[in-house]
Amino acid sequence: MCADTYWNPTLETLPAEKLHKLQLEKFRRIFTWAYTHSKFHHKLYSDAGIEPGDIRTFDDIHRVPKVEKSMMRSIQGKDPFPYGDMLCVPLDEVTEYHQTSGTTGQPVYQADTWQDWEWWAESWAYILWAQGYRPTDRVFLPFGYNVFVAFWAGHYGAEKVGCEVVPGGILDTQARVLKMQELKATALMATPTYVLGMADAAINKLGLDPARDLYIRKITVAGEPGGSIPTTKRRMEEAWGAKVYDHVGATEIGAWSYECTHQSGLHINEGLFLVEIEDIETGETITEPGRRGKMVITDFDRLAQPCIRFDSKDIIEWSPDRCDCGRTFRLLRGGVVGRADDITKVKGVLLAPTAIEEVVRSITELCDEFEVVVTKKGDLDDITLKVECVPGQQANIDVVRSKLVDQLRVKTNLGYNIEFHEYGTLPRYETKAKRFKDLRKKG
Ligand SMILES: [Zn+2]
Repeated sequence: MCADTYWNPTLETLPAEKLHKLQLEKFRRIFTWAYTHSKFHHKLYSDAGIEPGDIRTFDDIHRVPKVEKSMMRSIQGKDPFPYGDMLCVPLDEVTEYHQTSGTTGQPVYQADTWQDWEWWAESWAYILWAQGYRPTDRVFLPFGYNVFVAFWAGHYGAEKVGCEVVPGGILDTQARVLKMQELKATALMATPTYVLGMADAAINKLGLDPARDLYIRKITVAGEPGGSIPTTKRRMEEAWGAKVYDHVGATEIGAWSYECTHQSGLHINEGLFLVEIEDIETGETITEPGRRGKMVITDFDRLAQPCIRFDSKDIIEWSPDRCDCGRTFRLLRGGVVGRADDITKVKGVLLAPTAIEEVVRSITELCDEFEVVVTKKGDLDDITLKVECVPGQQANIDVVRSKLVDQLRVKTNLGYNIEFHEYGTLPRYETKAKRFKDLRKKG
């Protein structure tokens, strides 16, 4: 591999032993920073009887108390307003405000200093470089620039790499497609839902074929699991005639992972982040491939509101493979396969919504949009899947229905009420889709 393959040739190819030594040093540094600069962290660690001098090995790291989102919510709104005493810098050093976009609970406020913001851009530069973005690219960002971090840092990361960046802010979907065509944009970033939604609008509203009439050759997706669901990825790649690469990040964490051009799984940026996988039930650390657990993650270099052993609830597993790109940063198999919060029991069966997506997107007669609604009828759970057929396929509804029933039974062990809706009537989303609706708790 030539040096041009990597954004940071030294760090991305560091042998495992040296990388782990560096990680331990960096963990100790950020732990000490938080312990000495934030009342929240000082109390958390003092109560657990652990201080900076105690961190000598990875086993010591596993003893450091985890931080959950609910703990962050409980301090915010207090001084220093609105972040609370987790803040490690004076308020006047904060330059960026964002908040989480989760569907449940009060949003979490996130402060960053200008140095943190440069760190965001740097972490995105790793992603984009690995996915083949170069200074010759013209990158289009079709998202609403607002309080959610979304692709904000992707914008700055693309500039850092040297790309030309077109902010597609408040334009509507059709205007965005036309602007991409007009400017011959070569790359874009969006959620999988919106990548498919834009293709749908191009084809059915503008009479354009994105693969033929536009110039997009690579797409970075984030915000939903679709980039690592093979059937969804194939749909996006075929619609756009482009390579689609997954990325997973979060407001409270940062841009911690990326697929490279080899598309062999998600690389963790182990130079900037420490990822641990914990067994959901026992809390035991999982080091071997092929066993799922939840991610506990640490940012080494984020200063205003540090992220140290954050309990992300993302379900992941180590890949047994090494990537042909030559990076020593480890791979996750299948990306983020779900969230501990999303995996729910329906009719006594554990259901991960990603399994339904995989089935729907594998059936070519069906549109990209779908919705799952779980309700209670008496004491029994009832699950409905709403789908739309592609225009011209309405005559095949019976065949499609039986395909769906069979494959859903195999993949999820559940029977569904299948509802066919008229093309274009299910909700369309520009950012994270809300396709899974559990109405049982509301009675
Ligand atoms: Zn790779």
